[in-house]
Amino acid sequence: MQKFTVAGACAVVALLLSDPANAAQSRAFDILHYATTVDVDIAAGTLHGETLVRFSAVTAGARELQLDSGALTIDSVQQDGEPVPFVQRDAVLHINLPTAVRAGEVQVRYHGKPRFGLEFAPAREEVYTIFSTAQWMPSVNAPDERATLALALRLPPRLKATAAGDALPSRQLDDGRIEHRWQLRKPAPAFVYGFAAGPYVHARQGNLHYYSMDRSEVELRQLFAATGDMLGFFAERAGLAYEGDYRQALVAETIGQEMAGMAVMSEAYGKEVLDDPTQTGLIAHEAAHQWWGVRVTCAGWEHFWLNEGFANFMTAAWLQQSQGEAAYQAMVQGWETRVQELRTNGADRPLVYPQWIKPSADDRAVVYKKGAYVLHRLRRELGEEVFWRGLREYTQANDGRSVVTADFQQAMEHAAGRSLQAFFDAWVYGVGGELG
Ligand SMILES: [Zn+2]
Repeated sequence: MQKFTVAGACAVVALLLSDPANAAQSRAFDILHYATTVDVDIAAGTLHGETLVRFSAVTAGARELQLDSGALTIDSVQQDGEPVPFVQRDAVLHINLPTAVRAGEVQVRYHGKPRFGLEFAPAREEVYTIFSTAQWMPSVNAPDERATLALALRLPPRLKATAAGDALPSRQLDDGRIEHRWQLRKPAPAFVYGFAAGPYVHARQGNLHYYSMDRSEVELRQLFAATGDMLGFFAERAGLAYEGDYRQALVAETIGQEMAGMAVMSEAYGKEVLDDPTQTGLIAHEAAHQWWGVRVTCAGWEHFWLNEGFANFMTAAWLQQSQGEAAYQAMVQGWETRVQELRTNGADRPLVYPQWIKPSADDRAVVYKKGAYVLHRLRRELGEEVFWRGLREYTQANDGRSVVTADFQQAMEHAAGRSLQAFFDAWVYGVGGELG
């Protein structure tokens, strides 16, 4: 059961493998805002873009601004209308500012034909992003770099589009196309920027929006029917109300991806939920990311379990609430079996470790499944009242922030009124802890 959930959602880990370069290694600048206009040619699988990057200096005297730029070709960089020298090396754009500034902005023009990160489905006249934002706009990959985003997407008139952020009025261009626009007002990491566009059916229920090509409006409302209750449940557990609209799009092919205020899942998954309404695990997983992933984000990929272990655990908590104890226990059992398997194969690892360059299937299982299992064990150790109070305090205290595992430990210790070092040493930082 829970085929999609148990498989481990989110394209993030797989794509880290393809995107090892990271401008974050030594950041001399803090990115404050991006304003991006993207022109896509769906039939050709190409894009042209223009991104304004507003920044402030972290290091006095710094002159080299680094941005991850994937496989994009940079056409020009300008500051105040003047060309600025730049080089691209190992998927990183190095911009050499003429003088050191405390704050400023540059305009980057680029084009490309991404092999991943921006997915084209020409047969459906569809295009959508999957995780690797640097493949369609130069940006900083690191999850602790938060910035606001203004996104404009130029599309043929018959296409509909949805994206991270609040929708702004669209405008008609001279060539007949439509420029769709969104504004992400709260700073968020670049990996949760994204969009989906195609000749979609669009269904709306209050602040909830659904998009698909294969499903009717009635079917969309049916298969996403639990979304409002899920958001309510997670908001209550997080101690933070959901803000704004939430948009879900069914696209040609993906294992599921969260974005700020949005999620994409596959049409095949949508069909599965329609056929079996208990299969809502992936919808819940992506919805949970709005708190654990988007609002509270791991500061580095070595703490990635704070995003994915949490999303999986909260999915199980939602299933417990909506389908009963057996649904929760089935997920716990699945995690425990996988952890046992990891140990038998000598593949168990601490939840916190820096080996994210080439994660194996076992490594993903550590983050997604052992991560969720450890939260279950902590729940059992602390009891309902203390566990959920600690989790709520942790989430509230870190809203809009980047976190490391110590932040979580500290919040849980505060709730418990005692040290949890032995628990964290065994289950989180080590490979101990007795199963069963
Ligand atoms: Zn996820």
